[in-house]
Amino acid sequence: MKTPTSTDTLKASVPPASAEAVVPTGEIILEGLGVARGIAIGVVHLHDSGAISVQERRIAANRIEAECARFSAAAVRAGHQVEQLQEKAGHLGGAAGEELGYLLDAYRQMLHGSRLIRGVEQRIRGDRINAEAAVQQEINGIVRGFEAMDDSYLAARVADIRDIGRRLLRNLTNTPYRPFTALPKNAVIVADEMTPADTALLDPGHVAGLATVQGGAEGHTAIMARSLSLPSVLGISGLLKGGLRGGEPIIVDGAAGVVVIRPTPATIATYRRKRADFLKSRRILARLRDVPAVTRDGARILLQANMELPNEIAAVLESGAEGIGLLRSEFLFMNRDDVPSEDEQYQVLRDVVEHMDGRTVTVRTFDAGGDKLAPALGCAIGPNPSLGLRAIRLGLARPDLLEAQLSAILRASAHGPVRILIPMIATVEELRATREIMHKMIRTLKRKGIAIADPPPPLGAMIEIPGAALSADSIAWQADFFAIGTNDLTQYTLAIDRSDEAVAHLYNPLHPAVLRLIQFSAEAALRARIPACVCGEMAGDPRYTALLLGLGIRDLSMTTSNVPVVKNRIRSTDLVAATQRARVIMDQSDAARIAQLLDGFNAGEA
Ligand code: PEP
Ligand code: MG
Repeated sequence: MKTPTSTDTLKASVPPASAEAVVPTGEIILEGLGVARGIAIGVVHLHDSGAISVQERRIAANRIEAECARFSAAAVRAGHQVEQLQEKAGHLGGAAGEELGYLLDAYRQMLHGSRLIRGVEQRIRGDRINAEAAVQQEINGIVRGFEAMDDSYLAARVADIRDIGRRLLRNLTNTPYRPFTALPKNAVIVADEMTPADTALLDPGHVAGLATVQGGAEGHTAIMARSLSLPSVLGISGLLKGGLRGGEPIIVDGAAGVVVIRPTPATIATYRRKRADFLKSRRILARLRDVPAVTRDGARILLQANMELPNEIAAVLESGAEGIGLLRSEFLFMNRDDVPSEDEQYQVLRDVVEHMDGRTVTVRTFDAGGDKLAPALGCAIGPNPSLGLRAIRLGLARPDLLEAQLSAILRASAHGPVRILIPMIATVEELRATREIMHKMIRTLKRKGIAIADPPPPLGAMIEIPGAALSADSIAWQADFFAIGTNDLTQYTLAIDRSDEAVAHLYNPLHPAVLRLIQFSAEAALRARIPACVCGEMAGDPRYTALLLGLGIRDLSMTTSNVPVVKNRIRSTDLVAATQRARVIMDQSDAARIAQLLDGFNAGEA
């Protein structure tokens, strides 16, 4: 069991989550990381992370050849799917192209006359079982064999084998990438792990909440859950240990980081009241929609929303956000086998820009890698994904992908104000190279007579790598704007994986080193006269609002549901006092003292 950390954005009011874990009624209370506020009262839907459920069936002797043929067709189809991926990646050069080539070649070999294919056929013939069961058993057998070997390379191949197995099963069962269909009413998804791509498939209209064993408060699954406004608790270590069954009643309290399994009628009544209070406070805050974000002493702050999925636009507009400060374009690549074409990306982005009706949309180029690896890009999982070929590094290594996306964004810029944001910039050179590619795309589009904004969209750098923050003064002269990504900045500065629940209690954006890097970046932007926005999860936490303003930040972008609460905080903040207090805070040497001081200051302002 885990207690929410002091830096957990949404921990707010942890109720006395009773010391006794099991009470005689069978009610079980578990704690984890509350990552998206709200209360879900529903029933358990156990989600087996991407696995397709397979029933074993006996095959009649005269059906064996047909079953083998069915399997063979599924394998041939999988081979074609891999070939399509290879074709799309075919004109790549460099290390990335080579790496991708090896991976896809290995996949193709696995699908052609391999031990896997022979093994499945032997099981169909020998055991007279259906192809799906044969695939599953053969994959499990190979995986067990690999896992038993003390070889890290082979152990890493297990993920590839499972991936091929899933592809075969999907083809055999004609299962599309939509695992969340036919859910019970008020389903609470309970899983060992949910990837950001899995989470993107959840429809908050049908799903009441989310509870998982794995996951940190600032990982992309948490961010996705917040953007869907789905009450969620992650990192609950005991969640799947107590023989939890589908259909059982469950409550998720996403603010407190508490999950109640088999709640008693009295507990249900308590949480119904809490839910009503929560909804009421949201309604009250919603009244702030049309008032400006101004401090008590009259400083105007720009409040924008972060967007993970295009269907959030209505909520973004409803929240009173003045624009989209961060559109994470990864959704374009999720839950699919292929890469979206330039045209497909353009249509989606144009739609967003048009709906935002004159408000600025900041589109970040794809930040695949780390915990948001998109199979569509064919990224191999390197030994350390967070430090590997991801984001702009991948974009520069695979210019075909970057060019298509930049073209799509440039075309969308003809329909309303757009900014282009580049993730994971580490060097001035990367930004320069990206600008050159952008100019090349501008020339190509102009030659073809295709409209783009005039002047072309500003090109900004995410400051989320400590090295970039430390050279923010140089980068600022090459960038049209900064977006300070405090999620990764904290992760890399403190060497703490933001999505690992085991170290979640150590993840702390109030560490003096992180605050100094934010301040240094904000000052560099000011000197170069470019805007600097904070768009990490820190921006959406009202506890940090006055501090960020005091450090010189005038531009915040956050998960949509937090816009009203942060606006409320801005309106009760005095900027002169916040600046003085920030100075006091920057003199401190430890995060705990800083948190304490901030709590005191915030209590005084509220
Ligand atoms: C960040 O790192 O702070 C950020 C905003 O980007 P992401 O969360 O998508 O990595
Ligand atoms: Mg980031």
